[in-house]
Amino acid sequence: MNLIYMDHHATTPLDPEVLDAMMPYLTTEFGNPSSNTHEMGHFARIAVEKSRTQLALLIGASSPDEIVFTSGATEADNLALKGIVRAFKERSQPNIVTIAIEHKAILDTAKSLQKEGVEIRFAKIDSSGLVDLDDFKRKIDAKTILISIQTANSEIGVVQPVNQIGKIAREHNVLLHTDAVQALGRIDVNVLRDNIDLLSISGHKMYGPKGVGGLYVRKGVRLVPMIDGGGHERGMRSGTLNVPGIVGLGKAAEIAKRDLLAESSRLTLLRDMLALGIAERIDQAKLNGHPTRRLPNNLNFAFAYVEGEALLLACKGFALSTGSACTSTSLQSSYVLKAIGVPDHLAHSSIRFGLGKSNNEDQIELLLHKLETSVKRLREMSPLYDMAKEGINIDNYQWPHSH
Ligand SMILES: *Cc1c(COP(=O)(O)O)cnc(C)c1O
Repeated sequence: MNLIYMDHHATTPLDPEVLDAMMPYLTTEFGNPSSNTHEMGHFARIAVEKSRTQLALLIGASSPDEIVFTSGATEADNLALKGIVRAFKERSQPNIVTIAIEHKAILDTAKSLQKEGVEIRFAKIDSSGLVDLDDFKRKIDAKTILISIQTANSEIGVVQPVNQIGKIAREHNVLLHTDAVQALGRIDVNVLRDNIDLLSISGHKMYGPKGVGGLYVRKGVRLVPMIDGGGHERGMRSGTLNVPGIVGLGKAAEIAKRDLLAESSRLTLLRDMLALGIAERIDQAKLNGHPTRRLPNNLNFAFAYVEGEALLLACKGFALSTGSACTSTSLQSSYVLKAIGVPDHLAHSSIRFGLGKSNNEDQIELLLHKLETSVKRLREMSPLYDMAKEGINIDNYQWPHSH
């Protein structure tokens, strides 16, 4: 299939170098790293420990022992929040401070903890998606056991001031967790510099394999495990290690660190070329999210009066995603766009662009041409466009549900 892939926030392809590194562990080197009585196990153990070091180097951790391997970032997010809550069991009426545009792995975990009596406090964010630091400070009190704030958002790419939040966390003596999945390999992430105590990692968002990830747990931070068993991973996550996955994750981390500067500046140029092209060729295209504090590979635009789903269909040949989520009964606008105050009709007109390693200038040029012609054609058929021209307020317009 000759699809031009621009949906790198959803997942990324496996880097061929990563596959090469994994191959022996999928075939001949099948030892169990916990079986240290013979060379096979020993060899697997060495590979796992190398991966731990590669991850520690990527995030600036002081020791590889601070990395706990998991099945992905969803598990890492669950382990961070639930593990800390259970470690603070003696604390009455504990609370966690977070924001409303976190990934569902955080929001749904928080919701489940709420049922166990944990109060979840949402600090304000502004219309660009940035957290309001004054409000954040006000939300913290003596009963706050954890702060959880994403490093960068997967829909609008906004990069949060984690360094400043780290300072606030230290001042208040509260633990800080960050979901850094979208940031790794795209911007510089450093747990020591930013006072981060817990950090979630996913393999498949940074050109590694799916089904593997990790949680950085700073030395001295106590966490109650969710999975009991053989006491693997310093007792924090039992289960025989996914050696090929872990080896791939480590290689992906090594490449992410090695290529960070070159790749992030290349992506910034491509992104700005796309943003500028849209601004020049399409009127009433509105950027969702912060104009500058965003990931080098992310753009999210609302193309007013045009239905996002229809625009995706028109941009055949490109893998992109919309600002809508289809549930069984209705077309919901994205909760992230809703939380930053984007009106429904604009959310349903929004497209997310997630650039990555395989993209180049020719593809951007091709996409701009497709977008320009498709938006023009779709607007000519759009009831909203006519209504807006006649001065009718369309803020509450509901797109008919098409399936
Ligand atoms: C994809 C993603 C996750 C979930 O990661 P998995 O490894 O797929 O479980 C968590 N947080 C963010 C921000 C993500 O983008």
